[in-house]
Amino acid sequence: MNPYEKIIYFDNNATTKTDDEVISVMLPFLGEMYGNPSSMHTFGGQVAKDIRKAREQIATALGAVLPSEIVFTSCASESSNMAVRSILESNPEKKHLITTQVEHPCVLNLFKWLERHKNYKVTYIGVDSEGQLNLDELKVSIKEDTILVACMWANNETGVIFPIKEIGKIIKEKNPNTYFFVDAVQAFGKIPVDLSDGIIDLLSISGHKFHAPKGIGALYIRNKIKLRPLLIGGHQEKSRRAGTENVAGIVAMGHAAELAVKYLEDENTRVRALRDKLEQGIISKIPYTKINGIGTERVPNTTNISFEYIEGELILLHLSDLNICASSGSACTSDTLKPSHVLDAMGVPFSFLHGSIRFSLGRYNNEKEVDYVLEIMPQIIEKLARISPFRK
Ligand code: PLP
Repeated sequence: MNPYEKIIYFDNNATTKTDDEVISVMLPFLGEMYGNPSSMHTFGGQVAKDIRKAREQIATALGAVLPSEIVFTSCASESSNMAVRSILESNPEKKHLITTQVEHPCVLNLFKWLERHKNYKVTYIGVDSEGQLNLDELKVSIKEDTILVACMWANNETGVIFPIKEIGKIIKEKNPNTYFFVDAVQAFGKIPVDLSDGIIDLLSISGHKFHAPKGIGALYIRNKIKLRPLLIGGHQEKSRRAGTENVAGIVAMGHAAELAVKYLEDENTRVRALRDKLEQGIISKIPYTKINGIGTERVPNTTNISFEYIEGELILLHLSDLNICASSGSACTSDTLKPSHVLDAMGVPFSFLHGSIRFSLGRYNNEKEVDYVLEIMPQIIEKLARISPFRK
């Protein structure tokens, strides 16, 4: 147990604590405000109004032109699936897709499935040793029959930010008929997101990554692009996503989005300083370390550190024994022992590949927590280095 006898939570890219203000805003919708927003009566109508307000809050936070450009979903994985499959269904004659080698599995595995089962040809654009996208490769890959480019804004494992507006311009210059879908799950709340210039066609976010609860997400779809629903049924969400709305989640995410914009400054000053102190402290105190992606632009809260010839999972277990939460690679792959596909694409040497830890900080972290982690990390690594067969 660490000296604070409470969890030190440095795993905010996996999920975040629901903000207390957000909980109080959503609670009435788990209690007395239980009306169905589709009902004709005033009781349900009040709930429909609250959904309208949340849609406006999300649209404003994203810089969307119209609230109707926002469709509520259950999570970003659903949003990505809906975006991609809708575009493909509307344009069945075009069979070429582009994505990157470092996407989250909700895009990567979908594209692999489309290749295997639906005869799509997919180009997976590579990254350099800092995790930055190869824009020349992107340029030459866009062809006449390229229907969609799917690209993340910020990487969940390294925090590396892609120049998303520049990418959008390249796509539209090469082929104005190619759609551009952006996974903004790790960007929203960490860097400014503004969709008012119309460069991005579709974009996904997930509430639990910015202090709303789990089980609520959104898809932005630029006005005039017709969305074919993934879930077919009732007329909810203007027939774009059937199923009675997760009202509490929607209201919570609307408020959380407002807070995310309000806290952007804190993220870029205080949280960034904590992250920088943590990573600088680790590289100065512990030999044979490497910060993945440090040479390029990253979101302010994330650091991905590799320890040579040390097993990342063992570091995590030692941290977990002290109630410190971090992650190796993304939470979704941490139950497999395969090395991270992101670090692999960056060409991280084998000796560093299995020893990477992601610390992702956030709104509720403080300097005492960073100091404590800096105190115990050298002890953990020294202990593990002694049992590592490859360390001298
Ligand atoms: N995209 C990125 C970059 C992510 O980090 C995640 C979750 O970690 C997702 C998509 C999927 O989000 P959800 O679990 O809400 O579907």
